[in-house]
Amino acid sequence: MKEYNELFIGGQWEKPSGRGIIKVVSPSTEEVIGSVPEGTTEDIDKAVLAARNAFDNGRWPRMEPAERAEILKKVALGIQSDAQGFANEIANEVGSPVSWGMAAQVLAPVFIFNYYAGLASTYSFEELRQGVLGQAVVMKDPVGVVGAIAPWNVPLFIAAAKIAPALLAGCTVVYKPAPETPLCNNRLAELFESAGLPEGVLSMIPAGREVGEHLVTHPGVDKISFTGSTVAGKKIGALCAERMKRFSLELGGKSAAIVLDDVNIDEVLQALVLAGTMNNGQACVAQTRILVPDSRYKEITDALVERVSSMTVGDPADSATEVGPLIAERQRDRVESYISIGKEEGAKVATGGGRPEKLEHGWYVEPTVFVDTDNSMRVAREEIFGPVLAVMPYVDVDEAIEIANDSPYGLAGTVWSSDPQRALDVAKKVRTGSTTINNFLLDFAVPFGGYRESGMGREFGPEGLELFLETKAINLPHGFTPSIA
Ligand code: NAD
Repeated sequence: MKEYNELFIGGQWEKPSGRGIIKVVSPSTEEVIGSVPEGTTEDIDKAVLAARNAFDNGRWPRMEPAERAEILKKVALGIQSDAQGFANEIANEVGSPVSWGMAAQVLAPVFIFNYYAGLASTYSFEELRQGVLGQAVVMKDPVGVVGAIAPWNVPLFIAAAKIAPALLAGCTVVYKPAPETPLCNNRLAELFESAGLPEGVLSMIPAGREVGEHLVTHPGVDKISFTGSTVAGKKIGALCAERMKRFSLELGGKSAAIVLDDVNIDEVLQALVLAGTMNNGQACVAQTRILVPDSRYKEITDALVERVSSMTVGDPADSATEVGPLIAERQRDRVESYISIGKEEGAKVATGGGRPEKLEHGWYVEPTVFVDTDNSMRVAREEIFGPVLAVMPYVDVDEAIEIANDSPYGLAGTVWSSDPQRALDVAKKVRTGSTTINNFLLDFAVPFGGYRESGMGREFGPEGLELFLETKAINLPHGFTPSIA
């Protein structure tokens, strides 16, 4: 049991304003594993005040990016030194199998913090530009106080994706983790505390959506960085637009894996299945629509079904586990209702569809493959957020691209082929924010984000830093050339 009695407000642990407690329940044992105070609107007010003061009057935005980068490096080192502790905690809190979580939930955040620390020395925060009428300084200013709101599925990863670039930019941050996953976020806050982050620069207020909305509409917040469902993202985007507040949105997905007819299925099978089922299917980028050529439909589908049916389901802390539990009972209800919907729509369950035997506790569902689906079915169009794959046939590559693009979402995609050039030609035609050939990858130096209802803006890479910067131009008098840092 890990019990916190205080909230991390403005870089210090403080008594909460309210009496509410968030009890964190392990999805695999259904036991309470920790508790934190539930943040209130008053706590948000305090955190925003501290962030506002630190931004308007403090030294953080006025420090050199390289000095701020030192803090990011210390935090990266802190996560790395406690990698096993973080991986175990996330396995316990989220249900992510450590076999996947160590890399994706723990080491990836280390890379992200280090990547943005490195950008301090290569990114051009200020340049002298020759305009048509004279010279100008074009510079990047931090956007201000950032309100960041995150889901529960990859808590440390998303914290890194938002906090690292925001802090490098010189912003101050009020972070609202999802109520399901406050423990690993508090552990991160402790690392910031020991890294020597100046007062006011970061707060961590776990709370639900009403308190989140208070952060969104708070007049002291300049920018909202949101990751979560498309439904919430649309509402948050509208609230920000009414207030002329900057915002960026990382939302849901229903990504297509296009398997080309020249694929060596044995070579890619493991990666293809992991791409669809990572984090127990609770990944915005999960490749859950698998498009298979008619000419090899039976062979490829049989291989997929055989692999999925042999996946090891169980305790996420066990290194042999490939699929763990879903985050909560309500999430299992949701996934099971989609399995029923798929059957009613006429899709055939080729494996899975029920609850695994021999697991008495935990919100598990069997990894499930629907075959003979078509793209008009709800199981092919809607984000299920569980280990459920929909396999559908296509006649030729043009049809595969058409199916991939026929989605309200456009977050990620994959193309699988023995001929990378052919796969690249296909990838260029898929209208989605990022595509990987013969694997699923998310590279932190490369922009990531959604087309259509998958979001607005791009995280990672320099583009991810620019989400937290305003561009300012200063036109200079003739004959004057300033020194540029
Ligand atoms: P959710 O939208 O229900 O909640 C996400 C966060 O937003 C939580 O902290 C919640 O408390 C808060 N929230 C919800 N409504 C709000 C509102 N009106 N105002 C302010 N805050 C609000 O999503 P979830 O169920 O926690 O997470 C799953 C979703 O996140 C999936 O749709 C998934 O695809 C998406 N996701 C996207 C990415 C990405 O990078 N694109 C990454 C991970 C998850």
